[in-house]
Amino acid sequence: MEIKAIRGFNDILPDEIGKWQFVERTAREVFEGFGFSEIRIPILERTELFSRGIGEATDIVEKEMYTFSDRSGNSLTLRPEATASIARAYLEHQVYSFDPVAKYYYIGPMFRYERPQKGRYRQFYQIDAEVFGVENPMVDAEIILMLVHFLKKVGLENLELQINTLGCRKCRPRYREELKAFMKNISFQLCEDCQRRLETNPLRIFDCKVETCKSAITEAPQVTNYTCPDCQGHFDRVKEYLAVAGLSYILNPKMVRGLDYYTRTAFEVVSYQLGSQNAVTGGGRYDNLFQEIGGPDIPGIGFAVGIERLVSLLPAGKEFVSSPHLFVAALGEGPAREAYKLVYELHLQGIQAELDYERRSLKSQMRRADKLKARFALILGEDELKRGTAMLRNMETKSQEEVPLNDLTSTLKQKLAI
Ligand code: AMP
Repeated sequence: MEIKAIRGFNDILPDEIGKWQFVERTAREVFEGFGFSEIRIPILERTELFSRGIGEATDIVEKEMYTFSDRSGNSLTLRPEATASIARAYLEHQVYSFDPVAKYYYIGPMFRYERPQKGRYRQFYQIDAEVFGVENPMVDAEIILMLVHFLKKVGLENLELQINTLGCRKCRPRYREELKAFMKNISFQLCEDCQRRLETNPLRIFDCKVETCKSAITEAPQVTNYTCPDCQGHFDRVKEYLAVAGLSYILNPKMVRGLDYYTRTAFEVVSYQLGSQNAVTGGGRYDNLFQEIGGPDIPGIGFAVGIERLVSLLPAGKEFVSSPHLFVAALGEGPAREAYKLVYELHLQGIQAELDYERRSLKSQMRRADKLKARFALILGEDELKRGTAMLRNMETKSQEEVPLNDLTSTLKQKLAI
């Protein structure tokens, strides 16, 4: 039987990879411009990093983690998100002791045992950015500005920035109680999952996609009515800083985000092109995370962008796949040997050149040059070779000229403007 990939785990083939590379390249350029440095972290972590960091009563920890024991009996988990790992690395290497402010970004795969569907996979890629060590609301606004700038630079349109505040350890418990009381009254209208969430984590009911739950909670108390003066002040300043930078937003008091560690500012950017899985990216402040995983009291804020969803939104018509600069078509034994050597020399000079390995007819070699979308073709025959020249054909305009082989590299570089 043919072996297939695991459900929810995708291959990304070369004809798609250009989009991925473009997205990742743009992220690196934009984030580094904003003063962020790349960090690399392991894919596997101890399970308790996530159960303590993300929260036991979240969907991710309750039912979506890939957890198993290694040969020594340690419980390990394929990371479902990157923030807890990045925070762990920052603590473990005591980065805060020599520079309290850290701005990191990370690109890599995450794993969640969710029901696969369009835009939702079991292995998916995220681009993450995190700022540790700053409580000032200026940084909340700044990271949102960076995110929106990145999404625009990638070419996304029709985006909507939604923001909310989730309160803190001081004010959230009261809100939670009020919410629980409200939910208890309408519990007969809630789905089975939400009945359970009612006890463990009532905020999560806002994330439920079931229509009857959505309509049952339209009148639910809103977190913004319960935030303490400190949280309110923080949120007001975030809004002010966004306004100063001219960025518009929508207040969404029902946005709670799926992870327990979020406090105060939460944000999402949604695209109306995407259907039900419409969140391209989300993030927020997590001032309790470091303490949850055994560290000192360090504030943090960050976001994660889903690469699959972002790639699916890229504008059509933009060319992402790179095509060869040159295809060398050779006719006969001597020219074929010369073509092989020539292509090697061109590769050393950074020119993307291709050749025919099968000694096919000129017609089929030119067909291949067309298929590869080569910008130029070099036709090398016995006669030309004797003269030390070859025929250079512009594949777009179809014009041809005889060019000397001894300065082919500079001729090509000039024509290709590279
Ligand atoms: P989260 O870590 O849940 O806040 O998700 C951040 C972003 O990651 C989302 O906005 C999505 O773009 C992406 N994402 C989350 N879960 C999945 C998934 N199962 N498959 C594909 N993308 C996902």
